[in-house]
Amino acid sequence: METSEANVVEKKASNFVEEFIEEDIAAGKVANSPTHIVHTRFPPEPNGYLHIGHAKAICMDFGAAAKYGGQCNRRFDDTNPSREDTEYVDAIKEDIHWLGFDWGDRMYYASDYFQQLWDLAEEMIRRGLAYVDEQSSEVIAQQKGTPTQPGVESPFRNRPWEESLDLFRRMNKGEFEEGTMTLRAKIDMANPNMHFRDPIMYRIIKYPHHRTGTKWQAYPMYDFAHGQSDFIEGITHSICTLEFEVHRPLYNYFAQIMADIRGTEYKPRQIEFNRLNLTNTVMSKRYLRNMVETGVVRGWDDPRMPTLCGLRRRGYTAQGIRDFITTIGYTKYDALNDIKLLENAGRNDLNKIATRVMGVVDPVKLTITNYPEDQVELCEMENNPEQEGCGVHQMPFSRELYIEREDFQEVAQKKFFRLTIDKEVRLKSAYIIKCTGVEKDAEGNITNILCTYDPDSKSGMPGADRKVKGTLHWVSAKHAVPVEARLYNNLFLDEEATTDSERNPESEVVVTAFVEPFAAKDPEVGKKFQFQRIGYFCIDKDTTPEKIVFNRTVSLKASK
Ligand code: ATP
Ligand code: MG
Repeated sequence: METSEANVVEKKASNFVEEFIEEDIAAGKVANSPTHIVHTRFPPEPNGYLHIGHAKAICMDFGAAAKYGGQCNRRFDDTNPSREDTEYVDAIKEDIHWLGFDWGDRMYYASDYFQQLWDLAEEMIRRGLAYVDEQSSEVIAQQKGTPTQPGVESPFRNRPWEESLDLFRRMNKGEFEEGTMTLRAKIDMANPNMHFRDPIMYRIIKYPHHRTGTKWQAYPMYDFAHGQSDFIEGITHSICTLEFEVHRPLYNYFAQIMADIRGTEYKPRQIEFNRLNLTNTVMSKRYLRNMVETGVVRGWDDPRMPTLCGLRRRGYTAQGIRDFITTIGYTKYDALNDIKLLENAGRNDLNKIATRVMGVVDPVKLTITNYPEDQVELCEMENNPEQEGCGVHQMPFSRELYIEREDFQEVAQKKFFRLTIDKEVRLKSAYIIKCTGVEKDAEGNITNILCTYDPDSKSGMPGADRKVKGTLHWVSAKHAVPVEARLYNNLFLDEEATTDSERNPESEVVVTAFVEPFAAKDPEVGKKFQFQRIGYFCIDKDTTPEKIVFNRTVSLKASK
């Protein structure tokens, strides 16, 4: 047996990111890091609500840390005050907790490090590694060149460092207008990696910051702030999405400068994985905010939004979302994941926890002509056959019922095993009925389905288990509670959706449904049900004492 066994990690890596982490543990890099543990961070920019793409990042950042006995910091990347809001900060905290993760007392903000970043920038100026450029960002962009053509050096590039330092300090005092000056790293205007062509480190923003007020008027750019914040926190693995792969050399360059200045061996390591993209879904916060602002949806938590608060309101469980993330995994290739995988994971978890009830979403009346007019009896229903000990509840049965309109065909098509004239079906947990005829209105619409019942066929009674082909759900007309049911479908018709894609006119269909009394008792927001044969529903926050609102999370079966 190898002697290095102490370094062997017990749990096997389940993706390439974890393999890299195990590599670093084995090489002693983790032990030699500031906190001596696998230390990750989740760094949202507080410019919108978290979406399911963020859930993929959260599961990775917190999950990998937990797997290797480490810690994950929550850090707000609040380096652009003009786009940020405390509303988002609070919502982000709530959503991470809801998803099942916790950062303990390690709740940080990039703005906590503004002073340290500033000091580092000044040190870089003194060492000739940064300079103040007085050109506009347009001119700087024009001078960038192309990957095959070198860029043009700024005329301010070789100014004395004292001059740069003076201007840099004055940038922060508000002496110059936004856009007139930047601090740039002095690296290499001919480097094939465009990110090395003297990237901007600081720009002037004269907008008060939600945490630091007007103390700063020059703010660090992402590339400078992010890696250095990782460094300051002792992060070992800075896990992010693939679009940052081309930034990695610059990330390492800045990290090396910091390591040199501090005289340490430690450096955080950036690892990239593929972003989550979902079919029929627009994901980026920028677009989601636009949909909220233009009224495409009613808010960030509209149940059609891919935000975590939208999915939660829709009825998805945190477990369902985590299971979905496990299913799709982490790779190095961008892909488009089918939203049906999310629906399926959601369904599988709801199947375990949702209370079974009867609800009819497109009702048609049915009268049992040989059932006594004023008689009411109770039928017993299991609350959840997937969970032992979940008990039963009683559901009233009477002469007049509602069934689902699509469960009846006057002239049955081939392979239609539900109700039709002269045929029998079972009403779930109740009797076998036989259709004898229909009543119609002047337009020929069916208004009442006439049936007789077999009094000896009640479910659960000895000898009553006679087999018939179809089983239907139903509610007693006089006992059922009318509720608002909001039936949700994809917001966009295009699989590869953008905000300009055609929207689904049926993304939200609102109907009056009838539910059994048990489903309407104590309507607690978020409570989850399976309407048998129809789908998973939950009680929406728009519920009032006068009207219960149910959201359909997903239909019971996947659409073809
Ligand atoms: P958006 O484009 O929606 O604004 P972002 O990348 O700007 O997303 P941030 O809030 O800055 O989002 O990022 C927080 C973390 O979440 C980052 O590490 C980012 O890589 C990750 N992340 C964002 N979107 C996705 C996604 N679709 N799939 C996986 N991870 C994501
Ligand atoms: Mg962003």
